[in-house]
Amino acid sequence: MSAHTRPPIVAIMGHIDHGKSTLLAYIRKSKKPLAEAGGITQHISAYEIEHVGENGQGRHVTFLDTPGHAAFCGIRERGARVADIAVLVVSAEDGVKPQTKEALSLIIESGTPYIVAINKIDKEGANIEKTKQSLAENEIYIEGYGGDIPVVALSAKTGQGVSELLDMILLLYDLSPATSDPNSLATGVIIESNRDVKKGLSAVCLITSGTLRKGNFLQSGNAVSPVRIMENFENNMLEQAGASSPVRVYGWNKLPRVGATFHTYTNKETAEASAEDSPEDVLTDTCEVFPESVYKVPLILKADTSSTLEAMVSEIRKARKEMIVPYIIAVGIGPINENDIALSQGKEKAFVVGLGVKADKETQHLAERHEVSIHLFDIIYKMTEWLEEVLIEKTPKTTVEESTGRAKVLKVFSKVKDKQIIGGSVSTGTIKVGAQVKLLRREIEIDKGKIRELQSQKVRTQEISEGKEFGALIDMKMEIAPGDVLESFITLEK
Ligand code: GDP
Repeated sequence: MSAHTRPPIVAIMGHIDHGKSTLLAYIRKSKKPLAEAGGITQHISAYEIEHVGENGQGRHVTFLDTPGHAAFCGIRERGARVADIAVLVVSAEDGVKPQTKEALSLIIESGTPYIVAINKIDKEGANIEKTKQSLAENEIYIEGYGGDIPVVALSAKTGQGVSELLDMILLLYDLSPATSDPNSLATGVIIESNRDVKKGLSAVCLITSGTLRKGNFLQSGNAVSPVRIMENFENNMLEQAGASSPVRVYGWNKLPRVGATFHTYTNKETAEASAEDSPEDVLTDTCEVFPESVYKVPLILKADTSSTLEAMVSEIRKARKEMIVPYIIAVGIGPINENDIALSQGKEKAFVVGLGVKADKETQHLAERHEVSIHLFDIIYKMTEWLEEVLIEKTPKTTVEESTGRAKVLKVFSKVKDKQIIGGSVSTGTIKVGAQVKLLRREIEIDKGKIRELQSQKVRTQEISEGKEFGALIDMKMEIAPGDVLESFITLEK
């Protein structure tokens, strides 16, 4: 049989308290369960619903019920993703907030189509127009504001607009649906893993392609599991599960990593052999959230063995600084190849770093064409030295203001627009024509301006030194008053 369109997998993202959980809970409870639940339901990090669209046809949608951006992180390959569609929830009371932007950059980086859900429209303080403006100001180009990102206004509390959101999800998904061949063996992503004293090790596998059947064997990284006990999100035992379904499988020999892909085999030996061949599961830094002020230097690491790779990662993490961090976006074992060059093409090009590996001619040419720099090392401390240099070079320069002199304002003669003529005396240092000045009132900076002209005993001069009286023409918006202090300063890059 050929490939079929599989149901969409949807992630809900956004700032804390903007209503992600409420929306997920509303959608879940407003739909009838797909089957009767057996026993006590254990929470599982994804669920499926059936939504009846405008044409009366019922369609399945899988929602990832994982906190924050967990749906996107931990996934080794950049651009690879679990969700087909993302919903960016923004509160109509608060507008765009820091985590809204953080979620958006994850969505954009992974290339996931998304919808903006303006939530909490039932609240008195809700302002849809203002929220839309706040989105536009933050370069979220929604429909009607110079872009084509769909927007749905809703209330996760009353349910108003939720059905429209589900329609919109299906509409957007149908523009580029994912397919799955139900006859092939299942592949997908581990979205949760658990250790239970009574039930042992289990993992929630989200199938993105194929069918998972009882009697198959799963492999993810170094971990394997027979498919003997398989449950759906409502804790019902299953014989088989199709694409877009989240299933919990019990019986793993070790916990697979969340975000890792899994593969299925029909016999145990092949599953075990591919687990053995699998490189150590080294986690990248893409899950970690750094403050916006921290500058990230993206790196792709390749090593000859998994222990070399681990040593590299550990050295690189040690090199993190307060303002700048090396940021590992992908890792791998083996020579540098074309895929590494493709992965390095982000908003900022990543450095491809190899330890004990080489890059063949074609890869080197490709790197040159795309202006990607490959750095190869044989000894780890050479890599560390190189990295230290890169970090110094890339550290954003901070500017500091250094005072060169202070003067007290004795008289103010005139103010025409921003031009003010004053008389004063220099208390420390010197002041010069062309210098920037701060206006201090009771030692608090209230404005900044520039010294245009200086006079000493009615003679124009370039500079006035300590202890001398002077007349000055100053460019400044704020009205200067006698008793104020003018502090002359220079800005230095450090
Ligand atoms: P999350 O942190 O994004 O998951 O936000 P929650 O779903 O926990 O919601 C935060 C708070 O906002 C809770 O007190 C919710 O009851 C409330 N809330 C969420 N959505 C709505 C809504 O549409 N209307 C109203 N009135 N309150 C909402």
